[in-house]
Amino acid sequence: MTILVTGGSGFIGSHLVDHLLSETNDDVVVFDDLSTGTADNLAHLDTDRVDIRDGDVRDADAVVDAVADADAIYHLAAAVGVKNIVEKPLTSLQTNLQGTENVLEAAAEDRTPVFLASSSEVYGKSEDFPFSEDDDRVLGPTSTPRWSYAAAKATDEFLALAYHDERDLPVAVARFFNVVGPRQTGQYGMVVPTFVEQALAGEDLTVYGDGTQTRCFTHVSDAVEITHELLDAEVAHGEVFNVGSTEPTSINDLAERVIEVTGTDSEITHVPFEEVYGKDFEEPDHRRADVSKLRKTLGRVPESNLDRILHDIIDERTNEAVVSE
Ligand code: NAD
Repeated sequence: MTILVTGGSGFIGSHLVDHLLSETNDDVVVFDDLSTGTADNLAHLDTDRVDIRDGDVRDADAVVDAVADADAIYHLAAAVGVKNIVEKPLTSLQTNLQGTENVLEAAAEDRTPVFLASSSEVYGKSEDFPFSEDDDRVLGPTSTPRWSYAAAKATDEFLALAYHDERDLPVAVARFFNVVGPRQTGQYGMVVPTFVEQALAGEDLTVYGDGTQTRCFTHVSDAVEITHELLDAEVAHGEVFNVGSTEPTSINDLAERVIEVTGTDSEITHVPFEEVYGKDFEEPDHRRADVSKLRKTLGRVPESNLDRILHDIIDERTNEAVVSE
C-alpha cells in the first residue's frame, strides 16, 4: 500500500512517517511545502520506501496527483502556531480551509480513507472542563485573528463529516491537545521547545501572562500511534476524537520543571500577552480533554508523562549540540 502524509516534513508528520515505516510494510509519500516543516525532520531516513514531494495543499491539481497514488491519507498539513496565524491570517486561512477541501475532494473520488488532524483550539475559550467532543464551543470575535485557526479547523471537521455522510468517504478526525516531543520547534510560539531552548542556552524562561494557565501535554509518540489506529479502525470513521493527556500542568509549573530537569541557572520572567501578540489577544486559561470516547473506541488513551516528554526533548537538543560542535 501507499500512504500519503500531507505535512509529513513537520513535527507530528515526520514522527508519523517514522512510525508507518517501522510498523507497516507500506510505502509513504510525503507532501509538504516546508513552510513550517523542514527537510531535516526526515533526513535520517535511508530507505526507498519514502517519496518526498514539495507541494502546496492549496494547489488542487498537485493534491489530485498525490492522492491518485494513495491507499490512505493522513492530512496533517496546516498553518499552525499562534504566532504564524496572527502574522499571516490570510495564508493561514487559505491553507487550513482550501487545503483541507482539496484533500477531501480528491480523496472522495476513490473513497480513499482520510485522517484529519484537528485541534483542541476548536473548543475556544469554553470553560466546560473537561471538553467532550459534542460540547458547545465558545469562540471569540472575528476581529481577533487567533480565533480564525479554531474556526478553520472546526470548518475542516464539518467538511470531513459532510464528505463522510454525503460522499461515503471514510474519514476519522482527531482533536490534538498540545502534542509535544523531539523535533518540535519553538519558532511559532510553542511553549515546551521554547522553554527547553531558553534553559539550555542559560536564558530566562519567558512565561506569557501570569503562568497560572494550564495545558495537558501529549507525547508525540502516543499521538502518532493513536492516529494510525484511528484511521485503521472502521468504527472511528465519521467520528471526532479528543487525543490528549488528561494531566493539567500550569505554565509556571512547566517552567519550573524545565529548570529543574536541565539544571540551568535560568530564572522565570513573566511577559504580558499583549506585548507579544498585540492588545486584542485572548488566551484560554485551561484546556482539558475528556478522552472517554477514545478509550471506548481504541481501548487506550495517551499516557500523562511530562517528565518523559521533557527528557526526550532535552536528550534530542543536547545530542544535536554535541554533534554540531
Ligand atoms: P508542523 O508545522 O510541524 O506541521 C505542519 C506541516 O504542514 C509542516 O511540515 C508544514 O511545512 C506543512 N504545511 C503548511 N502549510 C502547507 C501547505 N500549504 N502545503 C503543504 N504543506 C504545508 O505542526 P504540527 O504540530 O506537526 O501539526 C501537524 C497537524 O496537527 C496540523 O494539522 C496541526 O493543526 C495539528 N495540531 C497540532 C497540535 C500540536 O500540539 N502540535 C495541536 C493541535 C493540532
